[in-house]
Amino acid sequence: MFNYKKNENFIFKIINKDLKKKKIKQVYTRFPPEPNGFLHIGHAKSICLNFEIAKIYNGKCNLRFDDTNPSTEKKNYVKSIKKNIKWMGYEWNKKIFYSSQYFKKLYKYAIKLIKKKLAYVDKLSKKEIKKYRGTLKKKGTNSPYRNQSIKKNLYLFKQMKKGKFKDGEVCLRAKINMKSLNITMRDPVLYRVKNIPHYRTKNKWCIYPTYDFSHCISDAIEGVTHSLCSLEFLNNNELYKWILKKINIKKKPKQYEFSRLNLEYTVLSKRKLKILIKKKIVDGWKDPRMPTISGLKNRGYTPKSIKKFCKKIGISKKNNLIELSLLEHCIRNDLNSKTPRFMAVLNPIKIIITNISDDYKKKIIVPNHPLYPNIGTHKIYFNKIIYIDKSDFKENFSSKYKRLSLNKEVRLRYSYIIKATKIKKDNKGNIKTIFCTYDKDTLGKKPKNRKVKGVIHWVSKKYSVPAKFQLFKPIFTIKNPENKKKYLKYINKKSIKIKNGFIEKCFLEKNKFNSIQFEREGYFIINKKNTIKNKKITFNKIVSLKGKNY
Ligand code: ATP
Ligand code: MG
Repeated sequence: MFNYKKNENFIFKIINKDLKKKKIKQVYTRFPPEPNGFLHIGHAKSICLNFEIAKIYNGKCNLRFDDTNPSTEKKNYVKSIKKNIKWMGYEWNKKIFYSSQYFKKLYKYAIKLIKKKLAYVDKLSKKEIKKYRGTLKKKGTNSPYRNQSIKKNLYLFKQMKKGKFKDGEVCLRAKINMKSLNITMRDPVLYRVKNIPHYRTKNKWCIYPTYDFSHCISDAIEGVTHSLCSLEFLNNNELYKWILKKINIKKKPKQYEFSRLNLEYTVLSKRKLKILIKKKIVDGWKDPRMPTISGLKNRGYTPKSIKKFCKKIGISKKNNLIELSLLEHCIRNDLNSKTPRFMAVLNPIKIIITNISDDYKKKIIVPNHPLYPNIGTHKIYFNKIIYIDKSDFKENFSSKYKRLSLNKEVRLRYSYIIKATKIKKDNKGNIKTIFCTYDKDTLGKKPKNRKVKGVIHWVSKKYSVPAKFQLFKPIFTIKNPENKKKYLKYINKKSIKIKNGFIEKCFLEKNKFNSIQFEREGYFIINKKNTIKNKKITFNKIVSLKGKNY
């Protein structure tokens, strides 16, 4: 779709080389989400990379649920992840894979390592393991259980499987090197006890393999050639190779790391996003302010705009913070040419046209898009009472203000020029009604003897319907909340604003559109859930027409 080139980034170059040197026959990738939350835009980056590679090289990409931690994983998340990937327009290879389907095989490989004196059951507590592991400056210390006999280890590991231990009481560790410069290699944990039922295997297991142990083996079993993951797994690469070598498995996939997506004004970690939901800062995973794929979908983002964004940010080894304006640019770009334009007034103020009769109406045919006639037309009516936006009127004229002022003129979009002659205020001094006259010779024509600069949007009172508009700002007030320990201190308490206004009635007859541009206001999409809840048509603002609103 976006013409990925075969030398798009360093990963494509590695693949080209492997194919040229005949190291592999066919490229095989995988996308391995853990079903412990909804996918976010960071995952979209990984989805695009893995699935696009498979597409371009005529290879395959598996969807594998990396479900080795029963405490946080749920069926419901599996469902949402599948739905999101399909919505993005990608298809996985054949059936869906689960790390949990390999539990038996993984167990056997663990036994193999024990028999090769390469794994042992450790009785140190979690805290002690951490202490013994050392730091970057301090080498680790061997556990007193490190040199237990194979027989004892086999016995204890089987006892682990039988459920004879409490959570955290024992674990299986690889016997590698407690003095390694790479801390990951200091006898990493391969299996832990968790007396919790698993959403798929139920009560069958009470020991679960770690990510490090299961991931590389799952990749190898499936015949993955290039296992692409984000940079935080850089130190695990050595372990990935070690395990595959020691269990002596035939196929040896390779792991390559690329930088994680960090996006301005948000956090991209399921754990932190979960906290936003729990604290009721947002209304669930699908809230249109959330950076989740479901949230973006509800906000009005299209798969095409998300893919375009992922292509634009590229793949590299350098971590950086991507501007939110880039994501907004991508959706604007996608919507611009296909989205019909209507008028809506978000902060209405009433105008009475004094020089026409109560029953006068003028039908005007308006293009749905000024540049693309194929998008069609619709009807609007000009008559006695109309609404304009409060911000389009200022009592006192100033030369910089190109909208309506007392005794000044402005053009109503697609319609006549009007002149404000009088205003009516309430007892608090707020303007309630503006009285205007219209110039009947200005429909589709410039006035002969003068210049009128401003053009404002409007709707007729009689030919409009009430609507709600939800306007959004980012959830966070700072660019990089991910970097802050106390990120919850930077929550924007006003990230949602609700406006009650009016839209052209004609929109209701034509609302087959996915998204709409309300002229001079921005791109919007109908919020179906709230439309039903509010019993009033409700829109989400997707993005403004230009500039930033944060
Ligand atoms: P989170 O911290 O959000 O839970 P995760 O890495 O634990 O993220 P997984 O479900 O394990 O989430 O991720 C599946 C795949 O998506 C992994 O290969 C991971 O590297 C990738 N991924 C996750 N977050 C990002 C991101 N921000 N940018 C790029 N890739 C990502
Ligand atoms: Mg993870």
